Amino acid sequence: MGSILEVQSVSKRFGGIIALDKVSLSVPQGAVVGLIGPNGSGKTTLFNVVTGFYVPDAGEVWFNNNGSSERIDGLNPNDVFAKGIVRTFQIPRLFKSLTVLENLLVTPLQQKGENPLKALNPEVWGEEERRLARKALSLLKRFGLLEYAHVKVSELSGAHIKLLETMRGLMTDARLFLLDEPAAGVEAGAAHELFRLVKGLQGDGYTFFIVEHRIEILMQYVEYVYVMHNGKLLAEGKPEEIISNEKVIEAYIGG
Ligand code: ADP
Repeated sequence: MGSILEVQSVSKRFGGIIALDKVSLSVPQGAVVGLIGPNGSGKTTLFNVVTGFYVPDAGEVWFNNNGSSERIDGLNPNDVFAKGIVRTFQIPRLFKSLTVLENLLVTPLQQKGENPLKALNPEVWGEEERRLARKALSLLKRFGLLEYAHVKVSELSGAHIKLLETMRGLMTDARLFLLDEPAAGVEAGAAHELFRLVKGLQGDGYTFFIVEHRIEILMQYVEYVYVMHNGKLLAEGKPEEIISNEKVIEAYIGG
């Protein structure tokens, strides 16, 4: 299986700080891959480069989707999204006064530049809105949230908000998901549930690239892990290789 994402010798500096120093990595199509490293090691900067929020100073980023290979570094975030890469943010940006279902419906329409309020009025739904409503309901069912469809987001638990964030990404037609700390602030049981759902979606042809501080949870669900330290790729391998890698242990202890 080929790779869906290829980062080739990417560098990015901020003044005197080298946030990324010739980083190369690839994410196989259909895989669940982790990205870890101590604070300040460059993980967020890498996600920002891949999603078009930063232009790298050097190097290339390639997205291989549906047999076509495209260079995406330098594209703006909207264009990267349109190619099929979506990122869920650490801080959920949901519409708190809308229901769970409404939040799912508003997202993809809004990104296409249509009137988001249309999604909230079934009487004016066309074929596209109906398709999205069906998709939203099937996701809610799959994620065990059907009974929350008409509950306002302001009444949800932190764990359910995290789930909803991931589901909003799935409402789009993206193939590659960059997840920013999906388990942050979520109790262990719900965090495992979220990762199990991610694994369940793997069979549908989605690919996940995940930054997660809770390594003990992440390691149980990823096939492959990249470790960053001081802007460089420090190690890569299967989870069992990474947890016993002395360089990795030292980087975490040394900070
Ligand atoms: P991580 O996500 O692994 O914690 P970051 O990518 O956020 O690491 O940061 C890598 C380095 O780049 C840090 O030293 C950080 O202070 C610096 N950095 C990140 N973004 C900026 C920015 N916009 N301006 C200046 N320095 C930044």
